[in-house]
Amino acid sequence: MSREKLLDEVAAEVTICTRCPLWKTRKKAVPGEGNPKAIAMLIGEAPGVSEDLEGRPFVGAAGRFLEALLSEIGFSRGDVFICNVLKCRPPRNRPPKPEEVQTCTPYLNRQIQIIKPKFIITLGNYSTAYIFSKAHVPYTSITAVHGKVHEANLHGMRIAVFPTLHPAAALYSAKYKEQIARDFQLLKVKLEKRKMS
Ligand code: URA
Repeated sequence: MSREKLLDEVAAEVTICTRCPLWKTRKKAVPGEGNPKAIAMLIGEAPGVSEDLEGRPFVGAAGRFLEALLSEIGFSRGDVFICNVLKCRPPRNRPPKPEEVQTCTPYLNRQIQIIKPKFIITLGNYSTAYIFSKAHVPYTSITAVHGKVHEANLHGMRIAVFPTLHPAAALYSAKYKEQIARDFQLLKVKLEKRKMS
């Protein structure tokens, strides 16, 4: 089966998922979207209010900022695959609960196994902590690990994990905005190097 069909299967399951109580308060589940053969996957925390309404990841203010960052390094949304750790919005955008992460991440893991990305760009604390723990890489804080490649073994694949700040946090802080823009410039260099090797 093609990667596209396999991803469609995951999305169809996510859309009707009732594995955790978040299905009761969601408007739409947000499976993720993008290029099934993307070399880079971007992983956020969980859908917010706009994403919950549209059923698509990063379509609100943080999403517009993320698109601008991608465009600065020569990528569009369609070049990459964008998704979240949680596929449904937690009420009032509260942080994901550990049991929700545990219940939901089999979907994310399947997406990683299908896409086989060379890079995983984790956006913010939650997705970074999850991917680091999955790869058995010690994690301290997003401020300590962002802006660098961490070579990881995930699902038997060697993947370059590149954490950066969450675009929503960066939106309202000049300092974070500068840091995330700098991280994306570093990411550009890493992506270009990987393309040539
Ligand atoms: N924040 C996230 O972490 N994900 C989204 O899809 C939107 C906002």
